[in-house]
Amino acid sequence: MSDMSRIVKVEALPISYPEPTDHHRFRSVCLVRITGEDGHVGWGECCTYFPEATLAAAKLVEGMAALIIGANALHTEAIWLKLKEQSWWYGTGSGLASFAISGIDIALWDIKGKILGASVLDLLGGPVRDHLPAIASLHGTKASIDEMAEDIAIHTATGLHGAKVGFGKAGNARLGFDRARDIEFAEKVIAAMGPDKSLMVDLGVKNFWDIATAIDRARAFEELGVAWLEEPLGHDDPEGYRALRAATGIRIAYGEREWNTRGVLRILETGTVDVVGLDPGRVEGITGFRKAADLCALTRRQANAHNFSTAIVGAASQALSWSCPACNVLELQPVYGPAQRDLVDRPIWHKAGNVNLPDGCGLGIEVDEALVRAMRLDV
Ligand SMILES: [Mg+2]
Repeated sequence: MSDMSRIVKVEALPISYPEPTDHHRFRSVCLVRITGEDGHVGWGECCTYFPEATLAAAKLVEGMAALIIGANALHTEAIWLKLKEQSWWYGTGSGLASFAISGIDIALWDIKGKILGASVLDLLGGPVRDHLPAIASLHGTKASIDEMAEDIAIHTATGLHGAKVGFGKAGNARLGFDRARDIEFAEKVIAAMGPDKSLMVDLGVKNFWDIATAIDRARAFEELGVAWLEEPLGHDDPEGYRALRAATGIRIAYGEREWNTRGVLRILETGTVDVVGLDPGRVEGITGFRKAADLCALTRRQANAHNFSTAIVGAASQALSWSCPACNVLELQPVYGPAQRDLVDRPIWHKAGNVNLPDGCGLGIEVDEALVRAMRLDV
Protein backbone atom coordinates (compact mmCIF):
# COMPACT_ATOMS: atom_id res chain seq x y z
CA MET A 1 0.00 0.00 0.00
CA SER A 2 1.18 3.48 -0.74
CA ASP A 3 1.55 5.45 2.48
CA MET A 4 -0.39 8.18 0.72
CA SER A 5 -3.63 6.25 1.29
CA ARG A 6 -3.06 5.18 4.88
CA ILE A 7 -5.58 6.46 7.40
CA VAL A 8 -3.91 8.08 10.40
CA LYS A 9 -6.76 9.74 12.29
CA VAL A 10 -10.54 9.35 12.75
CA GLU A 11 -12.41 12.04 14.70
CA ALA A 12 -16.06 12.28 15.78
CA LEU A 13 -17.28 15.88 15.98
CA PRO A 14 -20.79 16.29 17.44
CA ILE A 15 -22.39 19.60 16.40
CA SER A 16 -25.68 21.39 16.97
CA TYR A 17 -27.30 24.01 14.71
CA PRO A 18 -30.56 25.91 14.21
CA GLU A 19 -32.74 24.61 11.36
CA PRO A 20 -34.81 27.40 9.76
CA THR A 21 -37.01 24.93 7.87
CA ASP A 22 -38.00 23.40 11.21
CA HIS A 23 -38.97 26.53 13.13
CA HIS A 24 -35.29 27.29 13.95
CA ARG A 25 -35.20 24.37 16.33
CA PHE A 26 -31.77 23.03 17.17
CA ARG A 27 -30.77 19.81 15.50
CA SER A 28 -27.58 17.92 16.05
CA VAL A 29 -25.51 15.53 13.98
CA CYS A 30 -22.15 13.86 14.43
CA LEU A 31 -19.58 14.85 11.82
CA VAL A 32 -16.70 12.51 11.05
CA ARG A 33 -13.27 13.77 9.99
CA ILE A 34 -10.75 11.28 8.61
CA THR A 35 -7.14 12.25 7.94
CA GLY A 36 -4.79 10.41 5.60
CA GLU A 37 -1.02 10.01 5.82
CA ASP A 38 -0.54 12.63 3.09
CA GLY A 39 -2.67 15.21 4.93
CA HIS A 40 -5.87 14.78 2.90
CA VAL A 41 -9.03 15.11 4.97
CA GLY A 42 -12.42 13.49 4.32
CA TRP A 43 -15.72 14.52 5.90
CA GLY A 44 -18.78 12.47 6.74
CA GLU A 45 -21.96 12.84 8.77
CA CYS A 46 -24.11 10.63 10.99
CA CYS A 47 -27.62 12.09 10.57
CA THR A 48 -28.66 11.59 14.20
CA TYR A 49 -30.78 14.75 14.84
CA PHE A 50 -31.08 14.27 18.63
CA PRO A 51 -28.22 15.12 21.02
CA GLU A 52 -28.35 11.78 22.84
CA ALA A 53 -28.11 9.88 19.53
CA THR A 54 -25.38 12.23 18.30
CA LEU A 55 -23.23 11.58 21.37
CA ALA A 56 -23.84 7.83 21.19
CA ALA A 57 -22.83 7.80 17.50
CA ALA A 58 -19.71 9.80 18.39
CA LYS A 59 -18.69 7.11 20.90
CA LEU A 60 -19.26 4.37 18.32
CA VAL A 61 -17.20 6.22 15.72
CA GLU A 62 -14.39 6.64 18.24
CA GLY A 63 -14.58 2.93 19.10
CA MET A 64 -14.56 1.89 15.44
CA ALA A 65 -11.58 4.19 14.74
CA ALA A 66 -9.18 1.53 16.04
CA LEU A 67 -10.28 -0.77 13.19
CA ILE A 68 -9.70 1.88 10.55
CA ILE A 69 -6.42 3.52 11.51
CA GLY A 70 -3.68 2.09 9.33
CA ALA A 71 -6.15 0.83 6.71
CA ASN A 72 -6.08 1.90 3.08
CA ALA A 73 -8.59 4.75 2.58
CA LEU A 74 -9.27 3.58 -0.99
CA HIS A 75 -10.78 0.33 0.33
CA THR A 76 -14.25 1.70 1.10
CA GLU A 77 -16.07 -1.59 0.54
CA ALA A 78 -13.61 -3.63 2.61
CA ILE A 79 -13.77 -1.17 5.52
CA TRP A 80 -17.58 -1.00 5.30
CA LEU A 81 -17.76 -4.80 5.60
CA LYS A 82 -15.29 -4.78 8.49
CA LEU A 83 -17.44 -2.25 10.39
CA LYS A 84 -20.56 -4.34 9.72
CA GLU A 85 -18.76 -7.39 11.10
CA GLN A 86 -17.54 -5.49 14.14
CA SER A 87 -21.10 -4.39 15.01
CA TRP A 88 -22.61 -7.89 14.54
CA TRP A 89 -24.17 -7.73 18.01
CA TYR A 90 -25.12 -4.08 18.42
CA GLY A 91 -25.83 -3.52 14.72
CA THR A 92 -28.19 -6.44 14.04
CA GLY A 93 -31.37 -5.04 12.48
CA SER A 94 -29.44 -1.92 13.14
CA GLY A 95 -29.75 1.47 14.75
CA LEU A 96 -26.88 3.46 16.17
CA ALA A 97 -24.25 1.28 14.49
CA SER A 98 -25.67 2.32 11.11
CA PHE A 99 -25.24 5.99 11.99
CA ALA A 100 -21.58 5.42 12.87
CA ILE A 101 -20.91 3.34 9.73
CA SER A 102 -22.67 6.04 7.65
CA GLY A 103 -20.48 8.88 8.91
CA ILE A 104 -17.29 6.91 8.49
CA ASP A 105 -18.22 5.64 5.03
CA ILE A 106 -19.10 9.10 3.68
CA ALA A 107 -15.79 10.47 4.99
CA LEU A 108 -13.91 7.58 3.35
CA TRP A 109 -15.47 8.25 -0.05
CA ASP A 110 -14.57 11.93 0.30
CA ILE A 111 -10.94 11.23 1.16
CA LYS A 112 -10.71 8.51 -1.50
CA GLY A 113 -11.74 11.06 -4.14
CA LYS A 114 -9.20 13.56 -2.84
CA ILE A 115 -6.39 10.98 -2.89
CA LEU A 116 -7.28 9.83 -6.42
CA GLY A 117 -7.99 13.34 -7.74
CA ALA A 118 -11.53 12.30 -8.70
CA SER A 119 -14.98 13.37 -7.59
CA VAL A 120 -17.21 10.96 -5.67
CA LEU A 121 -19.60 11.25 -8.62
CA ASP A 122 -16.84 9.99 -10.94
CA LEU A 123 -16.02 7.17 -8.53
CA LEU A 124 -19.70 6.17 -8.53
CA GLY A 125 -19.68 5.95 -12.32
CA GLY A 126 -20.68 9.47 -13.32
CA PRO A 127 -24.01 11.16 -14.02
CA VAL A 128 -26.65 8.88 -15.53
CA ARG A 129 -28.92 11.74 -16.68
CA ASP A 130 -28.67 15.18 -18.30
CA HIS A 131 -30.72 16.97 -15.68
CA LEU A 132 -31.54 16.37 -12.04
CA PRO A 133 -34.70 18.32 -11.15
CA ALA A 134 -34.76 19.92 -7.70
CA ILE A 135 -37.83 20.25 -5.52
CA ALA A 136 -38.33 22.33 -2.39
CA SER A 137 -38.48 20.60 0.97
CA LEU A 138 -40.61 22.64 3.37
CA HIS A 139 -42.70 22.38 6.50
CA GLY A 140 -46.17 23.87 6.82
CA THR A 141 -45.97 26.23 9.80
CA LYS A 142 -48.46 29.10 9.39
CA ALA A 143 -52.10 29.36 10.41
CA SER A 144 -53.14 30.94 7.11
CA ILE A 145 -53.40 28.54 4.19
CA ASP A 146 -53.31 31.45 1.73
CA GLU A 147 -50.03 32.68 3.22
CA MET A 148 -48.51 29.19 3.14
CA ALA A 149 -49.55 28.73 -0.50
CA GLU A 150 -48.05 32.11 -1.39
CA ASP A 151 -44.75 31.29 0.39
CA ILE A 152 -44.45 27.93 -1.35
CA ALA A 153 -45.19 29.49 -4.74
CA ILE A 154 -42.44 32.09 -4.18
CA HIS A 155 -39.96 29.23 -3.72
CA THR A 156 -41.10 27.23 -6.73
CA ALA A 157 -41.08 30.40 -8.89
CA THR A 158 -37.25 30.18 -8.75
CA GLY A 159 -37.52 27.18 -11.07
CA LEU A 160 -37.86 24.40 -8.51
CA HIS A 161 -40.06 21.68 -9.95
CA GLY A 162 -42.37 21.42 -6.99
CA ALA A 163 -42.56 21.24 -3.22
CA LYS A 164 -42.71 18.53 -0.60
CA VAL A 165 -44.50 19.84 2.45
CA GLY A 166 -44.20 18.32 5.91
CA PHE A 167 -47.51 18.09 7.78
CA GLY A 168 -47.87 17.86 11.56
CA LYS A 169 -44.89 20.09 12.29
CA ALA A 170 -44.16 22.86 14.81
CA GLY A 171 -46.13 26.08 14.32
CA ASN A 172 -49.77 26.78 13.67
CA ALA A 173 -50.38 25.06 10.34
CA ARG A 174 -52.41 22.20 11.88
CA LEU A 175 -52.01 20.12 8.71
CA GLY A 176 -52.86 16.43 8.69
CA PHE A 177 -55.58 16.67 11.34
CA ASP A 178 -58.62 17.85 9.44
CA ARG A 179 -59.85 16.62 6.06
CA ALA A 180 -61.33 19.90 4.81
CA ARG A 181 -58.26 21.90 5.84
CA ASP A 182 -55.87 19.41 4.21
CA ILE A 183 -57.79 19.48 0.95
CA GLU A 184 -58.02 23.27 0.92
CA PHE A 185 -54.27 23.39 1.52
CA ALA A 186 -53.46 21.03 -1.37
CA GLU A 187 -55.85 22.84 -3.73
CA LYS A 188 -54.47 26.29 -2.94
CA VAL A 189 -50.81 25.25 -3.09
CA ILE A 190 -51.29 23.53 -6.46
CA ALA A 191 -53.14 26.60 -7.80
CA ALA A 192 -50.52 29.03 -6.43
CA MET A 193 -47.56 27.07 -7.84
CA GLY A 194 -49.17 26.94 -11.27
CA PRO A 195 -48.84 24.30 -13.98
CA ASP A 196 -45.97 21.81 -14.28
CA LYS A 197 -45.17 21.86 -10.56
CA SER A 198 -45.63 18.92 -8.23
CA LEU A 199 -46.89 18.82 -4.66
CA MET A 200 -45.78 16.02 -2.37
CA VAL A 201 -47.32 15.59 1.08
CA ASP A 202 -45.21 14.19 3.93
CA LEU A 203 -47.02 13.14 7.10
CA GLY A 204 -45.23 13.99 10.32
CA VAL A 205 -44.86 12.00 13.51
CA LYS A 206 -47.53 14.17 15.16
CA ASN A 207 -50.14 12.95 12.66
CA PHE A 208 -51.72 9.59 13.32
CA TRP A 209 -53.99 8.27 10.61
CA ASP A 210 -55.78 4.97 10.84
CA ILE A 211 -56.10 2.98 7.61
CA ALA A 212 -59.55 4.34 6.71
CA THR A 213 -58.35 7.94 7.14
CA ALA A 214 -55.24 7.24 5.09
CA ILE A 215 -57.33 5.73 2.27
CA ASP A 216 -59.79 8.62 2.31
CA ARG A 217 -57.11 11.32 2.31
CA ALA A 218 -55.03 9.48 -0.29
CA ARG A 219 -58.02 9.28 -2.64
CA ALA A 220 -58.73 13.00 -2.20
CA PHE A 221 -55.07 13.93 -2.80
CA GLU A 222 -54.88 11.60 -5.78
CA GLU A 223 -57.82 13.39 -7.36
CA LEU A 224 -56.06 16.72 -6.90
CA GLY A 225 -52.91 15.37 -8.54
CA VAL A 226 -50.63 15.18 -5.49
CA ALA A 227 -47.46 13.50 -6.77
CA TRP A 228 -46.78 11.35 -3.73
CA LEU A 229 -47.95 10.78 -0.19
CA GLU A 230 -45.13 10.14 2.29
CA GLU A 231 -45.37 8.05 5.46
CA PRO A 232 -49.19 8.20 5.67
CA LEU A 233 -49.00 5.09 7.90
CA GLY A 234 -45.58 5.68 9.39
CA HIS A 235 -42.57 3.59 8.49
CA ASP A 236 -43.58 0.07 9.49
CA ASP A 237 -47.13 -1.03 8.76
CA PRO A 238 -47.01 -3.57 5.92
CA GLU A 239 -50.62 -4.61 6.44
CA GLY A 240 -51.88 -1.03 6.45
CA TYR A 241 -49.84 -0.18 3.39
CA ARG A 242 -51.22 -3.21 1.55
CA ALA A 243 -54.77 -1.99 2.24
CA LEU A 244 -53.87 1.56 1.18
CA ARG A 245 -52.18 0.34 -1.98
CA ALA A 246 -55.22 -1.79 -2.91
CA ALA A 247 -57.60 1.15 -2.40
CA THR A 248 -55.77 4.00 -4.15
CA GLY A 249 -53.45 4.74 -7.02
CA ILE A 250 -51.47 7.51 -5.36
CA ARG A 251 -47.73 6.96 -5.20
CA ILE A 252 -46.71 5.93 -1.69
CA ALA A 253 -43.39 7.07 -0.22
CA TYR A 254 -41.54 5.75 2.81
CA GLY A 255 -38.22 4.17 3.74
CA GLU A 256 -36.15 7.05 5.11
CA ARG A 257 -36.20 5.41 8.55
CA GLU A 258 -34.64 2.19 7.26
CA TRP A 259 -31.11 1.52 8.46
CA ASN A 260 -29.64 -0.70 5.79
CA THR A 261 -30.08 -2.56 2.51
CA ARG A 262 -31.83 -5.45 4.24
CA GLY A 263 -34.47 -3.09 5.63
CA VAL A 264 -34.97 -1.53 2.20
CA LEU A 265 -35.32 -4.99 0.64
CA ARG A 266 -37.94 -5.86 3.28
CA ILE A 267 -40.15 -2.87 2.38
CA LEU A 268 -39.65 -3.39 -1.36
CA GLU A 269 -40.85 -6.97 -0.93
CA THR A 270 -44.15 -5.75 0.52
CA GLY A 271 -44.92 -4.26 -2.89
CA THR A 272 -46.35 -1.16 -1.22
CA VAL A 273 -43.69 1.52 -1.72
CA ASP A 274 -43.16 3.57 -4.88
CA VAL A 275 -40.71 6.20 -3.66
CA VAL A 276 -38.08 4.89 -1.25
CA GLY A 277 -36.54 7.52 1.02
CA LEU A 278 -32.84 6.90 1.70
CA ASP A 279 -30.50 8.93 3.88
CA PRO A 280 -26.77 8.40 3.30
CA GLY A 281 -26.21 9.62 6.88
CA ARG A 282 -28.30 6.73 8.18
CA VAL A 283 -28.48 3.90 5.64
CA GLU A 284 -24.78 3.01 6.05
CA GLY A 285 -23.23 5.74 3.98
CA ILE A 286 -22.62 6.14 0.29
CA THR A 287 -21.86 2.41 0.06
CA GLY A 288 -25.17 1.49 1.75
CA PHE A 289 -27.23 4.05 -0.19
CA ARG A 290 -25.82 2.82 -3.47
CA LYS A 291 -26.68 -0.82 -2.71
CA ALA A 292 -30.22 0.12 -1.61
CA ALA A 293 -30.78 2.41 -4.60
CA ASP A 294 -29.65 -0.36 -6.95
CA LEU A 295 -32.33 -2.61 -5.42
CA CYS A 296 -34.88 0.15 -6.05
CA ALA A 297 -33.84 0.41 -9.69
CA LEU A 298 -34.01 -3.36 -10.08
CA THR A 299 -37.57 -3.41 -8.71
CA ARG A 300 -38.69 -0.31 -10.70
CA ARG A 301 -39.03 1.94 -7.70
CA GLN A 302 -37.87 5.50 -7.31
CA ALA A 303 -35.22 6.22 -4.69
CA ASN A 304 -35.24 9.64 -3.07
CA ALA A 305 -32.41 11.06 -0.98
CA HIS A 306 -33.61 12.29 2.40
CA ASN A 307 -31.51 15.42 2.20
CA PHE A 308 -32.44 17.22 5.37
CA SER A 309 -29.37 17.80 7.52
CA THR A 310 -26.00 19.43 6.76
CA ALA A 311 -24.22 20.29 3.52
CA ILE A 312 -22.09 17.12 3.94
CA VAL A 313 -25.08 14.79 3.57
CA GLY A 314 -26.19 17.31 0.91
CA ALA A 315 -23.02 16.74 -1.12
CA ALA A 316 -23.26 12.95 -0.68
CA SER A 317 -26.93 13.06 -1.76
CA GLN A 318 -25.99 15.15 -4.78
CA ALA A 319 -23.34 12.68 -6.02
CA LEU A 320 -25.63 9.71 -5.34
CA SER A 321 -28.71 11.25 -6.94
CA TRP A 322 -26.79 12.13 -10.10
CA SER A 323 -25.30 8.65 -10.36
CA CYS A 324 -28.12 6.29 -9.26
CA PRO A 325 -30.63 5.36 -11.98
CA ALA A 326 -33.42 5.07 -9.37
CA CYS A 327 -33.13 8.73 -8.30
CA ASN A 328 -34.80 11.33 -10.47
CA VAL A 329 -35.33 14.35 -8.26
CA LEU A 330 -33.49 15.84 -5.29
CA GLU A 331 -35.00 17.78 -2.42
CA LEU A 332 -33.38 21.05 -1.38
CA GLN A 333 -34.29 23.28 1.52
CA PRO A 334 -34.93 26.67 -0.09
CA VAL A 335 -34.38 28.33 3.28
CA TYR A 336 -30.83 27.26 4.08
CA GLY A 337 -29.44 27.74 7.57
CA PRO A 338 -25.80 27.77 8.69
CA ALA A 339 -25.43 23.97 8.51
CA GLN A 340 -26.22 24.03 4.81
CA ARG A 341 -25.18 27.52 3.70
CA ASP A 342 -22.09 28.33 5.77
CA LEU A 343 -20.60 24.95 6.69
CA VAL A 344 -19.04 24.37 3.26
CA ASP A 345 -17.70 26.56 0.48
CA ARG A 346 -19.89 25.07 -2.26
CA PRO A 347 -23.31 24.06 -0.95
CA ILE A 348 -25.51 22.11 -3.29
CA TRP A 349 -27.96 24.37 -5.15
CA HIS A 350 -29.97 24.57 -8.35
CA LYS A 351 -30.00 26.58 -11.54
CA ALA A 352 -33.46 27.16 -12.99
CA GLY A 353 -34.68 24.15 -11.05
CA ASN A 354 -31.88 21.74 -11.91
CA VAL A 355 -29.37 20.56 -9.31
CA ASN A 356 -25.80 21.60 -10.05
CA LEU A 357 -23.16 18.99 -10.73
CA PRO A 358 -20.51 18.66 -8.02
CA ASP A 359 -17.21 20.30 -8.78
CA GLY A 360 -13.80 19.24 -7.45
CA CYS A 361 -12.32 16.15 -5.84
CA GLY A 362 -14.08 13.95 -3.30
CA LEU A 363 -17.42 15.44 -2.31
CA GLY A 364 -16.33 18.75 -3.86
CA ILE A 365 -16.65 20.75 -0.65
CA GLU A 366 -14.29 22.39 1.82
CA VAL A 367 -15.64 22.38 5.36
CA ASP A 368 -15.34 25.53 7.48
CA GLU A 369 -13.55 24.05 10.50
CA ALA A 370 -13.91 27.21 12.59
CA LEU A 371 -17.68 26.93 12.18
CA VAL A 372 -17.55 23.25 13.15
CA ARG A 373 -15.78 24.29 16.36
CA ALA A 374 -18.33 27.05 16.97
CA MET A 375 -21.22 24.61 16.45
CA ARG A 376 -19.71 22.00 18.74
CA LEU A 377 -22.38 20.25 20.80
CA ASP A 378 -21.73 20.87 24.47
CA VAL A 379 -21.34 17.60 26.27
MG1 LIG B 1 -40.12 12.43 5.18
